[in-house]
Amino acid sequence: MTDKNDILFARAQKTTPGGVNSPVRAFRSVGGTPRFITRAQGPYFWDAEDQRYIDYIGSWGPAIVGHAHPEVISAVQAAAARGLSFGAPTEGEIEMAEEICKLVPGIEQVRLVSSGTEATMSALRLARGATKRDKIIKFEGCYHGHADSLLVKAGSGLLTFGNPTSAGVPEDFSKHTLVLDYNNSQQLEEVFASIGDQIACIIVEPVAGNMNLIRATQEFIDTMRKLCTAHGSILIFDEVMCGFRVGLHGAQALYGVQADLTCLGKVIGGGLPVAAFGGRADLMGHMAPLGGVYQAGTLSGNPVAVAAGMTTLKIIQQPGFYENLTAQTRKLVDGLSAAAKAAGVTFCADAVGGMFGLYFASEVPGSYAAMMASDKDRFNRFFHLMLDQGVYLAPSAFEAGFVSAQHDDTIIAETIAAAEKAFAQL
Ligand code: PMP
Repeated sequence: MTDKNDILFARAQKTTPGGVNSPVRAFRSVGGTPRFITRAQGPYFWDAEDQRYIDYIGSWGPAIVGHAHPEVISAVQAAAARGLSFGAPTEGEIEMAEEICKLVPGIEQVRLVSSGTEATMSALRLARGATKRDKIIKFEGCYHGHADSLLVKAGSGLLTFGNPTSAGVPEDFSKHTLVLDYNNSQQLEEVFASIGDQIACIIVEPVAGNMNLIRATQEFIDTMRKLCTAHGSILIFDEVMCGFRVGLHGAQALYGVQADLTCLGKVIGGGLPVAAFGGRADLMGHMAPLGGVYQAGTLSGNPVAVAAGMTTLKIIQQPGFYENLTAQTRKLVDGLSAAAKAAGVTFCADAVGGMFGLYFASEVPGSYAAMMASDKDRFNRFFHLMLDQGVYLAPSAFEAGFVSAQHDDTIIAETIAAAEKAFAQL
């Protein structure tokens, strides 16, 4: 064994389950050795063999301004020099909260946490505490982090490994989670007609990115809003992935609908651990220390992480940022689709803002079932053909991809040229 990635992987597996600290990194579904990353800059990262890759995962969303952006790095360095963590409030947290309230429709008050999982778990507890109801609705293929009630028929790594419901979740917890079909308004209407008064909340990825990319239809979003309002249930938009990705004001601006609670993560930390949940002030008033719903965190609102997040939020508000990001992502998916067509490969692609989906299917899937019918084996072969040419896609057919502001025309053209070769060999 001479490849440094192989050596590191063998070593990692001795002390860490599967050799990784988050399952999809392990390449288990695509096969082969995961690349161990040593550094990243702009649209690229480098592995242990010093092989350079064009990066289309962007840390699974956060790296929207590109890796190691000089303004973000200097803000982090300056914050670190002032001290790493205080366990007492800081002005930076107020600024971050003000910025989030300004940018995200529906958020009047917000609390900072350190991971998307904490954000969704806390939003769920708040919805249950505020409504005094236990039942929640989620949709098959959506992933909302790894809190017990939400690991039922979930997407992302659970889909990738074919275990959509985690072991270790007591039946007593999961029995309160109703799992319905994404984009199926009629089913939702039926459930609310029979037990609407027992439903604490609906939690949904309004643009789903954990069963590959699937857009909610406007009708589906409108139905959720209408039913929640009519039955006193809380509508939670999990925008951990799509928030600040599909546009500056997230999915709520895209669909013209306000959620009662919104979960954020990824981009708002700019690569460091910051996530948040927020929404209507009357609901947020149920949170401790004001109300009876408890939630806390030693590192919540960490000053170094907040510095990275705030700087990222400033950069994405520069004029033209989202126009450029959207245009580059569109160029990528259009180029890939044209390359596949020229090679006679059944393939299509979709993009919303700086998120994209690649599907070995004849049309863009609108449901979990349609997504599951796409050709996973073909994706896996495509993944490796691209990787061999220095293009790093998400190592699973069930994950979305991410473009950064640093993916310029040259990078996109290089990616499409690699894809032309890959499609020809499929
Ligand atoms: N919600 C969504 C929509 C996500 O995509 C993710 C992570 N990919 C999470 C929640 C969980 O976030 P984290 O991994 O930071 O716990």
